[in-house]
Parts: sequence; C-alpha cells; structure tokens
Amino acid sequence: MSNCAIVGINWGDEGKGRMVDLLTEKYDVVVRYQGGGNAGHTVINEYGKFALHLLPSGIFHKDVVNVLGNGVALDPENLLAETEAVLAKGVTVDENNLKISDRASLLLPWHRELDGLEEARLADKKYGSTRQGIAPFYSDKYQKKTVLAGELFYPEELRRHLSDLLEWKNLIITGVYGAAPHTMDEIDEWLEKYAFRIRPFVTDTGKLLREAQKNGKSILFEAQLGSLRDLDFGIVPYTTSSNTTAAYAPVGSGCPSVRIDEVVGVVKAYSTCVGEGPFTCEWFGEDAEKLREAGGEYGAKTGRPRRVGPIDLVATRYGVEIQAATCIALTKLDVLSYMDKIPVCTHYLLDGKQTDEFPFPAALPDAKPVFEYLDGWRTDVSACRRFADLPLSAQRYVEFIEERIGCHIGYVSVGPERDSIIIR
Ligand code: GDP
Repeated sequence: MSNCAIVGINWGDEGKGRMVDLLTEKYDVVVRYQGGGNAGHTVINEYGKFALHLLPSGIFHKDVVNVLGNGVALDPENLLAETEAVLAKGVTVDENNLKISDRASLLLPWHRELDGLEEARLADKKYGSTRQGIAPFYSDKYQKKTVLAGELFYPEELRRHLSDLLEWKNLIITGVYGAAPHTMDEIDEWLEKYAFRIRPFVTDTGKLLREAQKNGKSILFEAQLGSLRDLDFGIVPYTTSSNTTAAYAPVGSGCPSVRIDEVVGVVKAYSTCVGEGPFTCEWFGEDAEKLREAGGEYGAKTGRPRRVGPIDLVATRYGVEIQAATCIALTKLDVLSYMDKIPVCTHYLLDGKQTDEFPFPAALPDAKPVFEYLDGWRTDVSACRRFADLPLSAQRYVEFIEERIGCHIGYVSVGPERDSIIIR
C-alpha cells in the first residue's frame, strides 16, 4: 500500500488529468480534495476526449472508487451535467464508483452570480475569476454560511437552513450590488432539479477512506490548479480560494490520518497561465501565437486563450518546494519540437540584482526574467517511449530542468494520449 498525490507545480493546466489517468490503475481509490468546477482536467483515452471539472479522473477505470472530499466546492448542477456527458460515452458512473463526502459544502445558486457581480464591480482590477462561484463559495464556507451535502437527507431542516441563508444573502445581493433578490421558489426548484439528485452518491467518505487504509488499499489524491494558485502560498490575490498543495490532501479528503508517500508534481515543458496577475516569462505577439498554437493552449473550461512563455525555473523550484514534490512529471515536451533555441528562465532580475528566489507577491510585477538558451531538437519526439530514444538535446533539456529544480523527473510526457509517456 502506498499513497500518492498528483499536484500542479505552476499555474495549473500542467497536464495533471493526463497523469492521474495514467497512474490510476495502480490505485484503488482516487480522491479530489479541493477546488470545484472552475478548472478542467483534459483526459484522452479509449472512451474519447473529456474535460473533467469535478469528477475525479479515476472515473474511467473499472473498480476504482472515486471520492469528492469535504474540501471541494460541490456544485450539483455542474456535477450532474458532467456525469451525464461521461455516461453518454459509455463510462460507468454510479453509487459504487462515485462517492461524495457528506461533509462537502454545496455551491449554491447565488455563488455563481456573486462571482460575476464582484468581477464586474472590480472592472479593470478584476482577479480573472472563471465565474463559477468558487471565491464566494469558499468565503461563505469559512463564514459557515453554506449547507453540507449530508443535509440533503434532512429536507425540512435543510429548507429552514436555506431560507435563513437566503435572507442574509439577499441583503448583500440587493444592498451591495443592487441586483435582484433570490427567492425560496428558485431554491426549491434547484433542490428538486439538481441537489436532491446527488443524494445516492453522498456518504461518510472519511469512514470509507479510513477503512480503505486499514484494508491496505492505495489512495491517489488529485489536485486542481497549481502551487502558484494556492490560497496561502500562491500569487495573492491572483490565486484560487482553496489550498492546491499536497499538504491539504489529508484534510480536504476527509482522512486526516492518511500518509502521503509520494507527491508527483506536474510541470509543463513551458509556461502557461490563465487569468490575471504577474506572469514573469510571458511572451506576446508572434512568439506567443506560435507556442499557443503548437500547444493548443486554450482553457478547458472557458476556451480562453492561455498566456504562454518559456519555462520559468524560479517559479517552478518554488512550486516544487511548497508541494514537497518527490518526483516530477514533465509534460508537453513534444510541443517544443518546432524551436531552434529554447529559452529557459533561470533567474529573475529584481532591484538590479539577479536572484533565483521566488519573490513576495507585491514584488513580483517588477521581476524581469533572465534566460539561458538551450539547443532545440527540431524533430518529432511523440513516438519516443524510452529516454534514450529522445534526441540528445531533448535529453539535455530535461536534465537541465531537473538539475535546476532539484527534483527527479520520473515521467516525460510526449503526447496527450495515455501511452505517450517515458518513464525514467
Ligand atoms: P490539467 O488541468 O493540469 O489536467 O491540464 P489541462 O487538461 O488543462 O491541460 C493539459 C492539456 O495538455 C490537455 O489538453 C492535455 O490533453 C494536453 N497534454 C497533456 N500532456 C501532454 C503532452 O505531453 N503533449 C501534448 N501535446 N499534450 C498534452
């Protein structure tokens, strides 16, 4: 038995879904422990191509139990839509392979609306939210103003609870934002149409995970987004509203006693970022267009073009540290095959000094990247399955990153398909 967390080292979209899909067959249980429907994991396998938002990527593997832990933002509407899309492609999703924590809080109809209202109020100072209601949801959770999935089994008490929350929330919606109030009729409709339909999946997942541990089962923890979006350690305020770090997995999964033996940190062979905030290595113009096209860098949830640039080893090393990564999966190496020379950001220039320390968020906008240029390989590497099959300059690129970030690169991904992988 050994447990593993798969986490993002950078800004998200590193290819975590693809790594979870690959590694799941070694595990009995796959758990999502934070975040909600605001990001997407793209998975390509024998069933087709999927953008998963809430469902754990283990859903495609028979006999794997998938858990949505207490740390997630549980949006019944999104979850049901996603479940239907996956069912339509012949994948099994039922109460045996999907379990929702009874302690997961529900994302309520006003959370999505409040997200949009606040971003509109912020106007050109907006945080770049995906408007899925995640920030208002987590603020309400910490104010104890949400309902737990387990309350769906107590409909009368639940309606009373929701009616109290509605009264309070309407003061904010109408008073602060001048928008129309929500009504209990709307909430009743939401309960019938979405919330009550998730009841068959809701259970005490903490107990399930403790029993799985006792019975020697292995657990895989699947994170959303990346280190630099972590609420405590990321680029505040351009972070998400939960902890994306592996250290949060025991809490957010519902099994605080769990030991994580391995942390696989996923790093893309270049940098991408969705949303606002400082992005030190950003490319613009033609260079950016070429890289974006080569990598298909458009958001899985929003379709927004991602910001792109060369790999940033300052940010990556920081991400490795805060994730306590024990091994790295480097993805999308194949995308760089068109470049003659590949820039690698090794340091930042800040206040006239060169540094390899990742700066405090307020200092980050002033940091300028310092690049070294490595030789490209100008050949298709997507059929390589052993490290020695890669051109020498591609091997050198991987080894250079490994040396500078101080963590073993155990996987090199050369394509989106499950088997397009080199294991070192
Ligand atoms: P996640 O949220 O970290 O799972 O990342 P996304 O799914 O948002 O973005 C990763 C994208 O890269 C997806 O479209 C994957 O199919 C794709 N992908 C992952 N690994 C590779 C790879 O090694 N090569 C190529 N070409 N695409 C990859």
